[in-house]
Amino acid sequence: MKLFTALVVVSVTVVSTANGRPVDDVTTAAARGDEKQLRNEQIAYLERFGHIKNKKIATNSIGEQFNDDEFTEGIKSLQKIAGLEPTGVLDEETEKLFTRPRCGMSDDNSESQPVGENDDGGKRRQKRYAATPYRWPSYVQSLLYSVDSTASFNLAPSTVSARIKEAFQEWQNVIPKNRLRISETSDSSRANLRVNFFTGSHGDCCPFDGPYGVLAHTFYPTNGQIHFDDEELWTDGASDPYQTQSRAIYFYQVALHELGHSLGLGHSSDPSAIMAPYYQYSSTAHLTDDDIRGVQAMYGAVSSPCSNGPCLNGATCIETGPSTYRCACKSFYTGTNCDTEISTSSTSTSTSTSTSTSTSTSRPTSTSTTKSTTTSQSTSTPTTATTTTTVAPVARSPCYSSPCHNGATCVNNGNSFICSCTAGYTGARCDTVNPCTSNPCQNGGLCTSNGNGFICSCRWPYNGTTCQHGGSLFKPRHGRVPRRRRN
Ligand SMILES: [Zn+2]
Ligand SMILES: [Zn+2]
Repeated sequence: MKLFTALVVVSVTVVSTANGRPVDDVTTAAARGDEKQLRNEQIAYLERFGHIKNKKIATNSIGEQFNDDEFTEGIKSLQKIAGLEPTGVLDEETEKLFTRPRCGMSDDNSESQPVGENDDGGKRRQKRYAATPYRWPSYVQSLLYSVDSTASFNLAPSTVSARIKEAFQEWQNVIPKNRLRISETSDSSRANLRVNFFTGSHGDCCPFDGPYGVLAHTFYPTNGQIHFDDEELWTDGASDPYQTQSRAIYFYQVALHELGHSLGLGHSSDPSAIMAPYYQYSSTAHLTDDDIRGVQAMYGAVSSPCSNGPCLNGATCIETGPSTYRCACKSFYTGTNCDTEISTSSTSTSTSTSTSTSTSTSRPTSTSTTKSTTTSQSTSTPTTATTTTTVAPVARSPCYSSPCHNGATCVNNGNSFICSCTAGYTGARCDTVNPCTSNPCQNGGLCTSNGNGFICSCRWPYNGTTCQHGGSLFKPRHGRVPRRRRN
């Protein structure tokens, strides 16, 4: 961590212009009965988060000196980014913003690169996202990240790593891999993006402020430092017993947001977007259409679920929906992506599972089947100690909900599962009768189920859909090629 400090100081000088950097910590504008003091804190807040452009107004605004018009404009700007009606009136809802937990990055997206409004089937949608000028240049096609430190409270290191990985995957799903391929490295010296947890002053521009207030900040590309406030009560979402605590912060949700900055996205004025600056707990936090349009404005769209070439070994990719695909494997290959070679000694009881998987714009569901909540080490929490009956979270494997049918065995495959079907069934969950059961391939052909159909891999010299043609009858004799009968 000490070594890292020096690095940040150097990096900060590179990005310390305009909104290419996080802003200071939040000073809570707690009402102290001192209206002047409160107003000054509000002005300081507006300036920090980029809502007062004329810094002179803010810095000179001791007592009566502040400019009312400038303040009103600042409030309007703040209301806009928070998705409120920009009235400029400091009403109750607006006042609450000053104490709400949020991201430490500036809301000033004025330097964001103008990107065309996306045409949405003739219906113009308002652009809420902000694609900043800070993005990974085209020569950077492989983006490596490393998790250098993890949370001190509640979340186990393995949980932090797993959620970071899932969050990067969620962004990767909507970015063409041939433009930007994100992967993890254990060698942080090679990483473009580095995740760390810090408390208070930690060697960069912007000290953290303890629980609540600012939760995290991230330096835009190509800096790539992603910092989480280690004094927050980070939780693993709905399954985490600490989630019910008043100042619980769902780590995955904030991580998704910060990784958006690490790719170059600014704050969105769509309050439901992941890139909205204010934290509002959502147990089902995932990228929204606004976030996806934002990142795709910078890196291009994943045009179809097949555009990333997910099917291997010569397989054909078939779109089965706007975000799902199925790989039609060539003979002797199986698996979702046709990446598994069928052993030539195997018999025709194939357990192929060439079915649709999620790619592209599909989002992971929030069901805990995909989350292996390993542990929640209940150490002391950063908030004032509360007597909590710590319920040990149940480690649930993807197989927990018994997703495989008809007697199939569920195999835990990291974040997902593979059903190993019994003879007679096929499909991702083994609920399709395997067309190979009736052994449609003749003359010793090998039957492979292929989604709803089958493919016969014929033995030489047989051919035809069920290997019904060929054999000695059609072997060329005396140089004559026999006429083929129709099926
Ligand atoms: Zn942010
Ligand atoms: Zn920092």
